[in-house]
Amino acid sequence: PFEVLVIGGGPAGAAAAIYAARKGIRTGVVAERFGGQVLDTMGIENFISVSHTEGPKLAAQLEQHVRDYEVDIMNLQTASALIPGEAGGLHEVKLASGASLKAKTIILSTGARWREMGAPGEDLYRNKGVAYCPHCDGPLYKGKRTAVIGGGNSGVEAAIDLAGIVAHVTLIEYDSQLRADAVLQAKLRSMPNVTIITSALTTEVLGDGEKVTGLQYKDRTTEELHQVDLEGIFVQIGLVPNTEWLQGPLALSGRGEIEIDSHGATNLPGVFAAGDVTTVPYKQIIVAMGEGTKAALSAFDYLIRS
Ligand code: FAD
Repeated sequence: PFEVLVIGGGPAGAAAAIYAARKGIRTGVVAERFGGQVLDTMGIENFISVSHTEGPKLAAQLEQHVRDYEVDIMNLQTASALIPGEAGGLHEVKLASGASLKAKTIILSTGARWREMGAPGEDLYRNKGVAYCPHCDGPLYKGKRTAVIGGGNSGVEAAIDLAGIVAHVTLIEYDSQLRADAVLQAKLRSMPNVTIITSALTTEVLGDGEKVTGLQYKDRTTEELHQVDLEGIFVQIGLVPNTEWLQGPLALSGRGEIEIDSHGATNLPGVFAAGDVTTVPYKQIIVAMGEGTKAALSAFDYLIRS
């Protein structure tokens, strides 16, 4: 059996694997797609100490760094069930392939995925005007016109953030009113370069073949179609944690995120979690790496005590 078995090969899982392997303990990583969300990212400019890199490059470097150590990487494998053991005993992880792995400690780092609008053009113009992370891509739209899709807390926060950087922000909400906290709504309404449109369904992302040039939305009260000319669209309709396979005794939040304490421990002894799949605030690469590190050191601490 493994001493540490990491499920997920994104920044959190890679950091956890490296920290565990450096303790000289038997470490494995199961990943559906090594690199995780980083593979889908174009420019990365907030990975501190690296001014600019690209997702696929960082993902390859993550994998190379893990391979510097004796880590058993099981790529293109999907975990389908976690069967927790007794305290101090072995946990079992079942894979979709039918295989089963056993480990003294488990680190869950299966990440999350942005909920997509599903509108025509969204896929085509991803990273070419369609963005999901204002902390990451906001500065690329300095002086340009953008829209934020979604009027919950994350959408309104994104709109406030962007309004300080870009020329103009159009916030589009499906419901007849914004769902964000009142204090955020008040802040947004006080900003001069923001337009708020409610009862609106984004029906299409418009572009010139190379990049986004606008969007089309339907006014849900009149059924009329309208067009907004702009350069960027930030989709903020939810981040979904990859925990569908983890139903059972593991404590999840109302949003399906794995609940962890400040050491990355879950409610199950010997089971730790890190990164976007958890309740940790701020879903970023550098945060996920720090969280993976914490979870691995906590797993090691658990091992030397049991
Ligand atoms: P993930 O990267 O999501 O990795 C999860 C891993 O788990 C993957 O290997 C996945 O294949 C695997 N997995 C999932 N389910 C299973 C399963 N059942 N069995 C086995 N494996 C499984 N952050 C920044 O800091 N800067 C940026 O510029 C930036 N830009 C972004 C741009 C885009 C388009 C996106 C989508 C995200 C961006 N982010 C950025 C956010 C950043 O990518 C995430 O915060 C980070 O990747 C989270 O790391 P993670 O390891 O927790 O999860």
